[in-house]
Amino acid sequence: MVVPYKHEPFTDFTVEENIKEYQAALEYVKGELGKEYPLIIGGEKIMTADKTVSENPANKKEIVGYVSKANQELAEQAMQAANEAFNSWRKWDAAARANILFRAAAIIRRRKHEFSAWLTYEAGKPWKEADADTAEGIDFLEYYARQMLRLKDGVEINSRPIEHNTFNYIPLGVGITISPWNFAFAIMAGTTIGPVVAGNTILLKPATTTPVVAYKFMEVLMEAGLPAGVVNYIPGSGSVIGDYLVDHPKTRFVNFTGSKEVGLRIAERASKVQEGQIWMKRVIAEMGGKDTIIVDNEADLDLAVESIVYSAFGFSGQKCSACSRAVIHEDVYDEVLEKVVAKTKELTVGPTFKDNSNFMGPLNDQAAFNKVMEYIEIGKQEGKVLAGGEGDSSEGYFIKPTVVADVDPKARLMQEEIFGPVVAFSKAKDFDELIDIANNTEYGLTGAVISNNRDHLEQARQDFHVGNLYFNRGCTAAIVGYHPFGGFNMSGTDSKAGGPDYLLNFLQPKTVSETF
Ligand code: GLU
Repeated sequence: MVVPYKHEPFTDFTVEENIKEYQAALEYVKGELGKEYPLIIGGEKIMTADKTVSENPANKKEIVGYVSKANQELAEQAMQAANEAFNSWRKWDAAARANILFRAAAIIRRRKHEFSAWLTYEAGKPWKEADADTAEGIDFLEYYARQMLRLKDGVEINSRPIEHNTFNYIPLGVGITISPWNFAFAIMAGTTIGPVVAGNTILLKPATTTPVVAYKFMEVLMEAGLPAGVVNYIPGSGSVIGDYLVDHPKTRFVNFTGSKEVGLRIAERASKVQEGQIWMKRVIAEMGGKDTIIVDNEADLDLAVESIVYSAFGFSGQKCSACSRAVIHEDVYDEVLEKVVAKTKELTVGPTFKDNSNFMGPLNDQAAFNKVMEYIEIGKQEGKVLAGGEGDSSEGYFIKPTVVADVDPKARLMQEEIFGPVVAFSKAKDFDELIDIANNTEYGLTGAVISNNRDHLEQARQDFHVGNLYFNRGCTAAIVGYHPFGGFNMSGTDSKAGGPDYLLNFLQPKTVSETF
């Protein structure tokens, strides 16, 4: 029996001892910066001349690592390795596969701050956010291993006299995991290892800006005993190997997390049957969000302020779950807005790799910085910028947390995903209108309701159309096994990462009936 699942606790950074340990981890990682990393194909390490340069987004001049880049030939080699590995991996006892995940989780837990420190350097994460990212990665390993133990013997079905029927789940084949930079550890690990524990083999293409932490994960998987070829590490450009692998006739499924544009492109390409292809590819796509916190007139307004500020600006708003719309009942609009603006102005922005003094770190890269600055300009036209509005990309990609007031619910700022530290405010006359505005985007990922009115909460339970709805708290920070995560409409296929059905995305049920 394995012990029941419980999520990994977060580190308390008010404890001196923990601060020292994190600082020691940062010091260690600093000494590891600037190294070269190979691809890993069929267990073989292959160094290529062409490299991705991973930089510290808080200090562009500092190179985190030089990472080998796969081309189409190497991607093809990886496909063959994964195909071959599938023949034996699929027959492994599911409990033995789960054990590799348990072992990997134990290894990472022992090196927890080191992983978080890599995230601080490579993704610019503040300590608390990096710690949560690492904890979530551990949770995915622990949780999916247990889910596989639950599913491994299938589900009981009926048999008639002189007949025995079984219903079991079997894996699909080779999948492509295309993972994002914003949860460079957790989502990368979860979207790789979920399919793997189910018996599939994977080609992992991590985000271009965060490949080093993914390599560190590969080291752990190898140490934990994962056979060669089960996960193949092939960083590379989307246009060169992404399309090639999505189109490949041997690709059985694509597990993608990223933007709506890329997700839709993958879905379209994967739907075309290629020569030699004998199945319909499955596409699992977790895409964008335009997430709303609504505040009722009967509500704890301080809780509302705290929830909006943290959900909007935690990790600089670079979460698909981030609150980028605050829709407030007209009776309390001015008070909530004023308090959010005051609290936002107190937030500090700067590097997080030296100490833990800044609430917000940098944005991911120049492209992200430029995009958010463009939206701030749009915000100046569409509303009133009451806090922030400035950025500086001379050393790192820093943008001040920005509050834009009095925005029309149909304005671009209220409709388009920004993926940065910008929150727009709109006013509503009653609870029905709060819900209508919350639902008026093409997305449906997360949302939160701040209200002490029970009828309104129940109304929202029915009508607020998002995959993750939260009452009287913020709209970010879902926990594996507690808040299965995924959204409706253009937010994706609602795969519910960290949920009891997640592994079914990568399994197919088989019925066997024997007559005696
Ligand atoms: N699961 C994360 C949360 O609840 C967001 C994941 C994402 O941004 O992709 O905040």
